[in-house]
Amino acid sequence: MVDEVELKILVEDTKNPAKPWIWSEHGLAILVKARTNKNEVFILLDTGTTGKTILHNAYKMNVDFSKLNAIVLSHGHYDHTGGLLDVLKCVEKPIAIVLHPDALKPKFVVKPRIRLAGIPFTKWQIEQHGGKLLLSRGVAPLAEDIWATGQIERTNKFEKVPERFLTIEKEQFVHDELFDDQALVIDCAGEGLLVVTGCAHAGVINTIRYAQKITGKSRIYAVVGGFHLVEADEERIEWTVQVLKEADPKFIGACHCTGKKALKRLREEFGEKFVEVHAGTVLSF
Ligand SMILES: [Zn+2]
Ligand SMILES: [Zn+2]
Repeated sequence: MVDEVELKILVEDTKNPAKPWIWSEHGLAILVKARTNKNEVFILLDTGTTGKTILHNAYKMNVDFSKLNAIVLSHGHYDHTGGLLDVLKCVEKPIAIVLHPDALKPKFVVKPRIRLAGIPFTKWQIEQHGGKLLLSRGVAPLAEDIWATGQIERTNKFEKVPERFLTIEKEQFVHDELFDDQALVIDCAGEGLLVVTGCAHAGVINTIRYAQKITGKSRIYAVVGGFHLVEADEERIEWTVQVLKEADPKFIGACHCTGKKALKRLREEFGEKFVEVHAGTVLSF
C-alpha cells in the first residue's frame, strides 16, 4: 500500500519563476519518493539531457542519489537519458535500470537535418558505471503497488508518433514507433492511480488506459509529466482533453513536450486542478 508520494521535478525545459537558482534544460527527470508500509522507495524516472543540470538541481533540492533503489528510463531519447552516467557516479553501487529493449535502438530525427536522438552511451559504458540493465517489454514491478508499464498498448487512432522520429531496422531507416515509451504507475491507497509519464510518445490517453488495464483499477488520481502534444493538431488536443475530463483526475501536472496549445486548453478545462510544472517543483500526493 502506498501511503504517500512525493515527486521532485529535477529537470524540465522551462525556467521556474519561483526558483531562479534551479537550472532548466530541454529534457525531463523526476524523482519519485514513495512510502509503502513504513518503507521508503526512491525511483528516478529519466535523467535529463546533461549530467551538469540534473546534478546541480539535485544538489539544490537536497536529493541524495545514493538512496536510489532503481532508475527507470521512459524511453531511449537523449533528453531523458543523457544525465545517466553522471547520476550513476553518484549512486556508487550497482543499481537496476529498467528500460524497454527498443530504448537501445539507434534513434534519429531528421528535422531539419539528421541528428542523433538516442541514448548517448553504450551498454558497456552504463554497465561500467554500475548500471544493471533490466530490459523488459512487459510490466516491471518496482515496489508494492508501483510499476513501470513496459510497452504501452495503442488503442486509439488519434495518438500517433510523428514521422520525424526514425530508427534503423535491417540496415534501413524506418519510422520509429517508439514502442520503448513507458510510464510509472503508482496505486495510491484510497485515491487511485498516479501516472507519471516521460514524453508519453505512446499517447497520454493510451498510457492512462494501459495503467488501468495492468492494475485492474479504474480511478485516476493524478497524471504528471510530458504529454507530447507539442506537434498534435487541434482535433487530437480536444479529444485528449475530453477523455481526460471523463477520467476526472484530481490533479494534472503537465510539462516538457506538452506544448503551449495543449497547456492552454488543459488550464482552461481543469482550472485549479491543473499545474504547469517546472524543474524545482515538488508535488505531494
Ligand atoms: Zn522522446
Ligand atoms: Zn522528451
